[in-house]
Amino acid sequence: MKIISTINEIKDFLKDKNNIGFVPTMGALHNGHVELLKEARNNNKLVVLSIFVNPTQFLEGEDLDKYPRTFEADKRVASLCDVDVIFYPDINEMYGNDEISLKAPNVRGSILEGYERPGHFDGVLSVVLKLFNIIKPSHAYFGRKDAQQLALIKLMVDNLFLDINIVEVSTQRDKDGLALSSRNRYLSETDRLEALRISKSLKNATNMIMNKEYSVDVIKDAILNDLSGMQIDYVEIVSREFRYIEQVKIGDSLILIALHVNGTRLIDNMWV
Ligand code: AMP
Repeated sequence: MKIISTINEIKDFLKDKNNIGFVPTMGALHNGHVELLKEARNNNKLVVLSIFVNPTQFLEGEDLDKYPRTFEADKRVASLCDVDVIFYPDINEMYGNDEISLKAPNVRGSILEGYERPGHFDGVLSVVLKLFNIIKPSHAYFGRKDAQQLALIKLMVDNLFLDINIVEVSTQRDKDGLALSSRNRYLSETDRLEALRISKSLKNATNMIMNKEYSVDVIKDAILNDLSGMQIDYVEIVSREFRYIEQVKIGDSLILIALHVNGTRLIDNMWV
């Protein structure tokens, strides 16, 4: 497994290669990332993992400085997943001064996560496009856990005519149902118990839908009731393309939750 930190070196290494599967991450790898890497390994000749805590997607006052950085452990995980190359650039490699940057779309980029974290998706799209241009993958792997990010990356690939297949990977959870996240390591045991209310509320909502309750207002009320007392950013139900809807349509809807547990911001969702 090679570890490469400069753009020149990785471009040089990849220049004659094709069929590259690419998994962009911010590191602090867990089994969610492992699932992406497995998919990439099973379907490509070469697997590239990037680890870069991208400053432009963090807002002032967010956890950029304390975001977990666990490169030694990440190397072991990557090696077990049979990764060929880890791209591990520093910030000066990725950004200069006074740059052009991408802007997330006005509507789908400015609701939910885009509303709560203005500028976040501009940073995500900018770094992902840079990484795509460096790695030139045939397939790139993203988790459904970050559903709005995934939708916007697919839109970027479409709108900018990029020749990359975006592969969606389902959300990986701990046995108790908590969606895996690098930020879960901020949670104490008590926080974790509180956080479990999120996946439970999503499960209850799914049961309502299985029992033919399709009204978005009714389902949202039930979730808000399950989460009462928690510090909620949003509970929303939208189409898979992030348009607001009044009725759940099975196969084309998403239930999304973002909230804070004792200072840690968590997101989760259910694809219905
Ligand atoms: P991050 O390192 O948090 O930026 O995530 C890198 C990639 O892993 C993104 O495509 C995420 O959507 C994906 N990911 C994070 N957590 C999970 C999870 N629990 N299940 C599946 N994919 C995930």
